[in-house]
Amino acid sequence: MRITNVQQVNTTSIPVFLRLRWRLTTIFLMIAIVPIIFVTVLVVRQIEAQNRAQTFRQLESISILKQQQIALWLEAGRVELRSLLVSPEVRTAIQDPDARPREDAVLREVANISNIIDDIFFYDPSGLVMLSSNEALLGRVVSRQVYFDASLQGEVVQPPFFDVSTGSLALIATAPIYVDDALIAIGAIRYNIDELNAIMLERAGLGETGETYLVSSENNYFLTASRFEGYALNRAYTSDGIERALNRESGAGEYNDYRNPPVPVFGYYQWLPALGSGLLTEIDQAEVQAALSQVQLAITVLAVVIAALAALLGLVVTQRITRPLIQIANSAAAIARGKFDQRVQSQQRDEIGVLAAAFNNMTQAVQDRTTQLQAARDEALAAQRIAKENSRLKSEFLATMSHEMRTPMNAIEGFTSIMLNRMGGVEYNAKTERYLAKIQANSQRLLSLINDFLDLSRIESGRMELARMPISPVEMAQKWRENFSVLADNKGLTYEVTVDPNLPATIYGDEEALSKVAVNLIGNAVKFTEKGAIHVKLEKRGTTLALEVRDTGIGIPPHAREFIFDEFRQVDQSSKRKHGGTGLGLAIVQKLTRQMGGTIMLHSEVGVGSTFTALVPLVSEDLPETELVRG
Ligand code: ADP
Repeated sequence: MRITNVQQVNTTSIPVFLRLRWRLTTIFLMIAIVPIIFVTVLVVRQIEAQNRAQTFRQLESISILKQQQIALWLEAGRVELRSLLVSPEVRTAIQDPDARPREDAVLREVANISNIIDDIFFYDPSGLVMLSSNEALLGRVVSRQVYFDASLQGEVVQPPFFDVSTGSLALIATAPIYVDDALIAIGAIRYNIDELNAIMLERAGLGETGETYLVSSENNYFLTASRFEGYALNRAYTSDGIERALNRESGAGEYNDYRNPPVPVFGYYQWLPALGSGLLTEIDQAEVQAALSQVQLAITVLAVVIAALAALLGLVVTQRITRPLIQIANSAAAIARGKFDQRVQSQQRDEIGVLAAAFNNMTQAVQDRTTQLQAARDEALAAQRIAKENSRLKSEFLATMSHEMRTPMNAIEGFTSIMLNRMGGVEYNAKTERYLAKIQANSQRLLSLINDFLDLSRIESGRMELARMPISPVEMAQKWRENFSVLADNKGLTYEVTVDPNLPATIYGDEEALSKVAVNLIGNAVKFTEKGAIHVKLEKRGTTLALEVRDTGIGIPPHAREFIFDEFRQVDQSSKRKHGGTGLGLAIVQKLTRQMGGTIMLHSEVGVGSTFTALVPLVSEDLPETELVRG
């Protein structure tokens, strides 16, 4: 069995994004990737923030360390200065000019040993230097130096300044010396700036780009050197950090540093009042972020790997789900095309396995049922063939038999006629004559029955060939008129046959068949009409030829209209006794009409009359044989 109009299963016709496989994979991916992205972003942000906070903390602690180192260094210098102030030799030398050269030598010795102090010198309240570790200073007057005025008042650390006399940066601490509340001199030390540089250039914990440096509030000059080349001390530098430090603020920030072009740095700034300068601790953002970038890269790679694994897993899982489904769909399509041996192979023990098993069961059931149906149909077909053959054999037998019976019947009828006409010259008495008449009537009936049989069986066995000959409707009508005028007259009926003037003079067809239809219908009309009229019309109705036989007879009840066209069927059995007949006439009419490619219609009213109309195709030209409409 084949079932047509079945679409082949073709998953490629489903848009990709609708396919189960891709939808499931996408969902898997989403489930895996969205949290991964979320977590990754969160972790990276967190690390970034922590990194920055830690960098700031580190910069702050380095800055504070430097500040303390500087304070210690300054304090160490002041301690040395104080110890000199209380030294009796120093006091003696101040008051006794003769003792001074010896004391100068002692001071030189002290300055040499100390790595904090460069120079030691003492000057009187007028500013005249009287004692000094540095000979060049002796006899000079320092009253114009920046620290001088303040030094007369008390202990002072003078923030670094550019000393024009030495042409270098100077950091001076001073302390007054009193004798009996009278200021007799001021002691001063000049710090060794190299030591400050050493403190500032110590860069532990500052990586490749980190640095600490001091910027003086005077002119924004560097007090200590930059880590980078090309940035001289005695030039003005500025940046956000420098400005804030010199503004006496302290804190951390991200800003562009003093370099040219500026470099973004993380920085910590604070103000050192003792040095009158800002302490800056900075590191390039790029360096801090380089380490971070590695972590970010590692995390991103990890995330991508996890996502890829999730996608792969999703694909495998969805494959396991969709493959049996596609297989089932393919099998269903194959079954629809008639391939019932299709079974779904599934070892899965889940719902899909159950589905496959159910599908296989259904397929088996469909296969069994189809086999049964096929067998039943084959049987029915065989029975039908046999029945057809039987029917044909029956008709053939009837035709042969009727034909064979006609010859002796004709002889019987003929001889009976001869005898009745006394052609043998014999005299019969009335009784014999009556019998002879009965024999004749019966043999005539038998002959007409045999003729009907012969017609019917010829049509049914397919031996009836319709001719296509020219017919003159007018002449044919004339024959019908002549055939029945005597019978109609005898019953006192009006009988007329009319021909439609629109009909062509010559039509084509089988005159014998057409006349047989007419004769049967007219014969019935005469037979079942006691008074009134019989009207036969031959007319053109469009492309059909209509043969209409109308009578004013007994009519046919509605229920009988269904079966009177069947063989041997009459309206009721009493009709047979009264009117005779075999019930074959209308069967012949219907079969002949159909064979001519037409139909027969009936309108009737009991007690009013009946109208039979045979409609057959009107052939008005001698068409080639093949174009003839055949029944
Ligand atoms: P028959 O005339 O040999 O009985 P038909 O097949 O010609 O057989 O007609 C079948 C039956 O149809 C008739 O017996 C009759 O009862 C009914 N019949 C046919 N023609 C008419 C008619 N014109 N008027 C009334 N009844 C008719």
